[in-house]
Amino acid sequence: DNTANQIAAGEVVERPSSVVKELVENSLDAGATRIEVELFEGGKRKIVIRDNGMGMSRADAILALQRHATSKIRTADDLFSIHTLGFRGEALPSIASVSDFRILTKRPHDETGTEVIVRAGELAEVRDAATPDGTVITVENLFFSVPARLKFLKTTQTELNHATDFLHRLILAYHTIGFRLTHDGHELISYPGSADPRQALAAVYGRDVAREMVPLLYESPGLTVRGSVSKPSVSKATRSAQAFFVNGRHVRSRTVQHAFDAAFSRLMTTERHPVVALFVEISPELVDVNVHPAKTEVRFTRDGEVYAAISRAVESALLTGGL
Ligand code: ADP
Ligand code: MG
Repeated sequence: DNTANQIAAGEVVERPSSVVKELVENSLDAGATRIEVELFEGGKRKIVIRDNGMGMSRADAILALQRHATSKIRTADDLFSIHTLGFRGEALPSIASVSDFRILTKRPHDETGTEVIVRAGELAEVRDAATPDGTVITVENLFFSVPARLKFLKTTQTELNHATDFLHRLILAYHTIGFRLTHDGHELISYPGSADPRQALAAVYGRDVAREMVPLLYESPGLTVRGSVSKPSVSKATRSAQAFFVNGRHVRSRTVQHAFDAAFSRLMTTERHPVVALFVEISPELVDVNVHPAKTEVRFTRDGEVYAAISRAVESALLTGGL
């Protein structure tokens, strides 16, 4: 019921950028190749996510609002080999329980689309609607019904920064996908998508930094580390331009951060921090992403192997990459 959804919302949805994260991840899971995010007042007033993914049938769009009605895992075993970003079936019902919420969706082979409107957590309207293939989700007045949470929202600029940081990390991880971000009608990010990951580095860190980055690569059976690390000329005073990913998901991991820092400082004597986008690809069975609903913390079954692989990748980039 709606109370359970509102409680879950406390876990899943902390702020506008968590709504953006959940909805954009759904778009990626739906196979979208173009995703547009429109924010108003940092997302506090309105968030619109538009994708060209597979869309939903009318029945599925209604089902998606039920708790734990995920389409992404079917058996308990699936939990141990998750290949999608979502799997809990909590995001849509949670977000809908604390906002004015609307789904507009159409599958390519359907004649017409569907519009589903939720008000105060209750299904208010379901009707046919003309719309392009894909899905548009609109979230207005987030937390309007939960004053205790409304009070914790930060300034428009802070909320916008969180959303921008999130989208930048997605561009790095999904460089083939087109992303666009507008705020109060002004375009902030326009990334067309490219087969070349250096275009993503340029879009996120700027052309001058991207030009000073060298590839990272270490491959062993079942474990790959790749990405790009910058030369000292463009290193930063803080770690804010460092992004680490495991199986396409941005993570915070002491193992990964520490392995990177240690390898780097063994080879370079500098107080500054390189710009880095580092991707660990590992068999999903060896990762536990289930530590927290927000899913940024990870644990590895074989920590030592991951640590060693990152060390090797950094060492060979520094030795052969001309740093
Ligand atoms: P989860 O992603 O964990 O499955 P969500 O609550 O985020 O749960 O979404 C519920 C379901 O709604 C998904 O399993 C999916 O079937 C459907 N869905 C959500 N967003 C989209 C979208 N943009 N395109 C297609 N289907 C979607
Ligand atoms: Mg989801």
